[in-house]
Amino acid sequence: MSLREHVPRPLVVIGLLSWLLVFFACRGPVVYPTPSTVQGFPSPTLPALPTVPAVVPSPTPTSLPSPTPTTVPPATMTPTPASSSTATSTPTTSTPTPSGRRATLITRLPTSEPVIALTFDCGADRGYAEEILDTLARHNIRATFGMTGAWARTNPDLVARMLQEGHVLINHSDTHPSFTGYSTGTPPLPPAKRLAELRGAELAVAAVSSSPETMRPFFRPPYGDYDEALLQQLPQAGYTVVIMWTVDSLGWRGIPAEDVVERVMHAAEPGAIVLLHVGAQSTDSAALPTLIESLQQAGYRFVTVRDILD
Ligand SMILES: [Zn+2]
Repeated sequence: MSLREHVPRPLVVIGLLSWLLVFFACRGPVVYPTPSTVQGFPSPTLPALPTVPAVVPSPTPTSLPSPTPTTVPPATMTPTPASSSTATSTPTTSTPTPSGRRATLITRLPTSEPVIALTFDCGADRGYAEEILDTLARHNIRATFGMTGAWARTNPDLVARMLQEGHVLINHSDTHPSFTGYSTGTPPLPPAKRLAELRGAELAVAAVSSSPETMRPFFRPPYGDYDEALLQQLPQAGYTVVIMWTVDSLGWRGIPAEDVVERVMHAAEPGAIVLLHVGAQSTDSAALPTLIESLQQAGYRFVTVRDILD
């Protein structure tokens, strides 16, 4: 342990470091090429910038598997093998339906009376459900609510209020998956899982209504996604009517409340079914008072789907 062993070491280290510094400082610029000159890459920074904004701002919600009702494709886009509707033979892959029944698809209520059905989907969050119920109560209007089991479990107080105030609940599945995977890019649900989704919602509502049949025979598919197999299966589960819509307010997209009113007024016709949402991101609640008054001024009154289809 002599000093001679310690003293020279720092000196050697410092010397080495200085040499390395000089060495790298000299060759630095050559060693690190800028990203735009990296071989084989289509220059990732500069030329890419103009194309990125063009892709990002289009909030096409079809690829988001979010539990919120953000993806509502036009009803016409949903695959519908219409030709098979007349087929009486049973597909080999599914169990025979008694009497070959098939659920009926409703996009407009079959009436010539000046009536409109306001339908509110309760997919994810509590959102503006209370405000919507207040507005409806103020105008003495009954509406139709697409109810998920998840929503009913989280908000049993509001489900009870809906039933108490005469609103109609329709089955909107338990956890809001796309049954076909069309809007979420997921595999289609197998028949057993589809049935479980229907029953799960029934159980959740039955916890408040004390009946698993409260929502029958009306089903509204999450994202509006359905296929022929679902239409064949639904009657076996007690659901013979699939409630789609005449006009989607697009409030779920956060468009201004005035635009919600304008869209719906433009599409108003006897028996029109209006698709609205209770969720916090939706502007439907803000639009509702004006929407109701505008429709009333145009001579419409309000019905539930049960008023016309039962
Ligand atoms: Zn929904």
